Amino acid sequence: MDNFTFGYYRQIFEEAINKNYKVITLKDFFLDNYNQEDKILVNRIDVDVKIERLKAIYKIFKELEIKASIYLRLHAPAYNLLSIGNIKIIQDLLSIGCEIGLHTELQDVNGYCGIDKKVLLRQEIQLFETIFQTKIYGSASHGDMTGYNNLDFWKDNVPSEYGLLYEAYDKKLWDHCRYVSDSEWTQWKSYENGVLLQNDRRTPIGHINDGPKVLHLLTHPESWYEGYIYE
Ligand SMILES: [Zn+2]
Repeated sequence: MDNFTFGYYRQIFEEAINKNYKVITLKDFFLDNYNQEDKILVNRIDVDVKIERLKAIYKIFKELEIKASIYLRLHAPAYNLLSIGNIKIIQDLLSIGCEIGLHTELQDVNGYCGIDKKVLLRQEIQLFETIFQTKIYGSASHGDMTGYNNLDFWKDNVPSEYGLLYEAYDKKLWDHCRYVSDSEWTQWKSYENGVLLQNDRRTPIGHINDGPKVLHLLTHPESWYEGYIYE
């Protein structure tokens, strides 16, 4: 059985550090703000459901002195990003150098509610910057079981029109990395330079030992727990 405990989550990053990976944000990747000789782990977190589990992740990152890019939803049925408790969770993560960005649902909000996507994106960026007092550099499209694909927004829009540096699936990263994701909750999947590695269920530690130059790790807080997934 694969291990999705926070104990194992910590081991992933310890192993990366031991194997000389530099753990960086997507902002630093897209700004080329790292030593090009280094192996890098581009650390992405999408908060789909359980925002409170970021507290355990914060402790791990603080102790290991590493950071991540964390994408947050404004339209999540399961959490209110703007509650005071949740703002404080994000402030803690920002205080250790994490980057935050929007986990966008632009096609969904437009498709179901008729709201103008371009106006909405501008307003959401402004809201994030007001609430969290940090510049927003990027966004990551949320994927769900709705009838829309939120990534479609970027077929006829470019991040710079919105003052953004990147969208997380931009080719500069997606086409030039080993991407490893827990998005199937209980098992891992991976892509090499944008192509699915069929039936590759290696854990991030397996990939770290393989040693790709750019390892792009996506995790979701709700996949991780202390002892039991529904704790
Ligand atoms: Zn998502």
